[in-house]
Amino acid sequence: MSVAVRFAPSPTGRLHVGNARVALINWLFARGRGGRFILRLDDTDRERSTDAYAAAIEEDLAWLGLGWDDLVKQSERLDRYRAAADRLRASGRLYPCYETAEELEIKRQRQLAGGRPPIYDRAARELKEDARKRLETEGLRPHWRFLLEPGEIAWDDLVRGPVRFDGANLSDPVLVRADGRPLYGLSSVVDDMELDITHVIRGEDHVANTAVQVQLFGALGGAPPAFAHLPLLTGAGGAGLSKRLASLGLEALRGDGIEPMAVNSLLARLGTADPVEPRLSLDELKAGFDLARFSRATPGFDPAELQHLNARLLHMMPYDAALGRLEEMGLDGIDERFWLAVRPNLGRLEDAREWSQVCRGPVAPVIEDSGFAREAAELLPEAPWDEATFGAWAGALEAATGRKGRALIRPLRLALTGREHGPELKYLLPIIGRERAVARLAGKTA
Ligand code: GLU
Repeated sequence: MSVAVRFAPSPTGRLHVGNARVALINWLFARGRGGRFILRLDDTDRERSTDAYAAAIEEDLAWLGLGWDDLVKQSERLDRYRAAADRLRASGRLYPCYETAEELEIKRQRQLAGGRPPIYDRAARELKEDARKRLETEGLRPHWRFLLEPGEIAWDDLVRGPVRFDGANLSDPVLVRADGRPLYGLSSVVDDMELDITHVIRGEDHVANTAVQVQLFGALGGAPPAFAHLPLLTGAGGAGLSKRLASLGLEALRGDGIEPMAVNSLLARLGTADPVEPRLSLDELKAGFDLARFSRATPGFDPAELQHLNARLLHMMPYDAALGRLEEMGLDGIDERFWLAVRPNLGRLEDAREWSQVCRGPVAPVIEDSGFAREAAELLPEAPWDEATFGAWAGALEAATGRKGRALIRPLRLALTGREHGPELKYLLPIIGRERAVARLAGKTA
């Protein structure tokens, strides 16, 4: 069977880098094998899911370039979950329970106080038919638990290696709520089966769910897919990332001028022993991708590393890749010469705006020594100018004034650009042009 994976966020918040990492790894894994990548929205929780979050998730994935072959909404598949629940009831694997949340909490506290694991005691299975009827006539509706079988549950996790659980140590999970709504454990397995998912790649917070789900696949007559559980990213100081941690959200990163391929380049290698290098396309990342490279150790996400990578990516970005974006920013008169001159100085693409203004004006020059500036203007070579012009000019100025090094370059940079730092003057000078250079050396805003 050909590979099929799914990324299954709940549209109850925006995606952060931790979610993006899971999405990307699924995408690279599938696409590297000619497989399918499905976006599944786990939106059965009507109170917390919103269309706006669903749209935002699609927007964020599209920004990263992670296109999907199919979009599946769990809210549109409720009949499938109902049918599966009916099958489980018929085979005796789903049983009704009437405890309230408070009663369950008291049981849990008692078990913990007695040093026992908080496993559901299956009291509801002891209920006699007449007691059940009485509860129903009192208006109580049951929630439904999956009857786990004792015995070993095992799988070879593609990240964690062999994983073992004993069904006897797990609590029968609730799969259907009293109002009839399916819970994640059921809907996820039904979808994974019916959409022919071959590999479930998700965060390690789901390892215990997987143990339950392995039995559920069997109970529904399916074979479990392969599983890979990735350690969750931690933020600065080892704290976990939460979906609501806005600063590490994709939307915030986009707003900060982070390139999607910088995010992808970092997240595709974080947690492996491979070096993190800026890559311009997902195809390049796909080439070196191997799920087996991901370690069980918890990787830390460092925003400073992302910023550094973003700059490195811009420094190597070809003109064709930048042009459309620069035009969208409203910068015109952009040509390859400009791009190659300024890209080594960019931390964000947006920084190109400043250098465009430096090249095209107006710039208020900074003149600290007007005598030197006058002499520099007099020695300016005649047009046409190219990249050799600045060297020839600086050589002539050095011979005439005896200044050299920083004492020579700094006042020229301040006069020509109004700034202490910036792209190499030998590239900027021909773009600034003779007319503006003469005006700026004379102290005029031009
Ligand atoms: N909606 C679940 C989550 O966001 C999906 C987990 C899974 O991949 O099965 O955690």
